Amino acid sequence: MSNDLFIRNVRPMAGAAADVHVRDGRIAAIGPDLAAPAGVEVLDGGGAILTPGLVEAHTHLDKSLWGMGWRPHDAGPRLIDKIDNERRLKKLINIDPARQSARQVVQSSRMGSTAIRSHVDVDTEIGLWGMEGVLQTRADYADIMDIDIVAFPQSGLMIRPGTADLLDQAMKMGADVVGGLDPCAIDRDPKGQLDVVFGLAERYGKPVDIHLHEGGTMGAFSMDLIIERTRALGMTGKVTVSHAFCLGDPDPALVDPLIAALAELDIAIMTTGPASRPAPPIAKLAAAGVRICSGSDGIRDTWGPYGNADMLERAMFLGLRNNFRKDEEVELAFDVVTHGGARVMGLAGYGLEVGCRADLLIVPGTAITEAVVSRPSNRIVIKRGRVVARDGAVLREAP
Ligand SMILES: [Zn+2]
Repeated sequence: MSNDLFIRNVRPMAGAAADVHVRDGRIAAIGPDLAAPAGVEVLDGGGAILTPGLVEAHTHLDKSLWGMGWRPHDAGPRLIDKIDNERRLKKLINIDPARQSARQVVQSSRMGSTAIRSHVDVDTEIGLWGMEGVLQTRADYADIMDIDIVAFPQSGLMIRPGTADLLDQAMKMGADVVGGLDPCAIDRDPKGQLDVVFGLAERYGKPVDIHLHEGGTMGAFSMDLIIERTRALGMTGKVTVSHAFCLGDPDPALVDPLIAALAELDIAIMTTGPASRPAPPIAKLAAAGVRICSGSDGIRDTWGPYGNADMLERAMFLGLRNNFRKDEEVELAFDVVTHGGARVMGLAGYGLEVGCRADLLIVPGTAITEAVVSRPSNRIVIKRGRVVARDGAVLREAP
């Protein structure tokens, strides 16, 4: 199938009108008043904004309840309550990772994402069920989505003997990133967990992405240990800390040295812009040169009822949480859900320059900020030069 396309009259990043010639899935030319090559499909952009595809850099494809009917949410208040509740329900109500990840991938594509980083549960009860399912979806839906897989010890690593071996197997199966989780609060053995996580990263030559919900001084302590290992192992640029609520602590004496070390070692931060937890300060991190990405985290799962896979909406949440009001501030939030995610995931050829992969979003609006706050539903999503979603209708259907 040809991945050639001529896009007429779009405004790259809400700037001046341009045309785009896509050849072999890449941008071959972009500029004003290009001549449409003969025989190539022409798409009229109608003066809408053209941006690179949105990047969902933190979600959990294996456990969304999307399409499974509504379930009341009754898990207890603590993190461990939600973890235990979910592990119990997975087999009980058959949260099939292959089916559910496919459903979420299709929804993400509909909303404009062209790349996803998914953490995938690995534990001693479900074993590698999640890995098998998401790997299958990654292969089956490769035409609409790039999927990066993090092998994720959701139920803890040291407190569940056998999990380290399963993580090792997950890396052999094709996981791209080694995951970790609250080395103090969940595992109660930070040295033990980080030895395993960084040990696997070293053995397989892969990056690390650690969920760190721990707040305040405990979170700062764990982050310090992550920083120490990143430095000792020469893993500059290969580590991401997800959530990092401790960076939302009001005490600059706690936070500022951490931010300086993150910048020095190029450790990236993922934030969802959480409404109910302390959140990493995006503008301050960006000013320090820290790479920042964002994601929906869990979408309609047993943890909570929220989520629609819309990274434009996520940019709005980032803006609201960070008190962004000026256009340039909201544009920073938009950068986090596009280039920020691409930088963290290491997506090659991401952007709107000639030679970049034609993973694109066309969305109505006069300015990026207007698109973020109005989140229009009439979007056109292009993956490798092919229209994969238009006005909510998708090229690939979910099971
Ligand atoms: Zn998560």
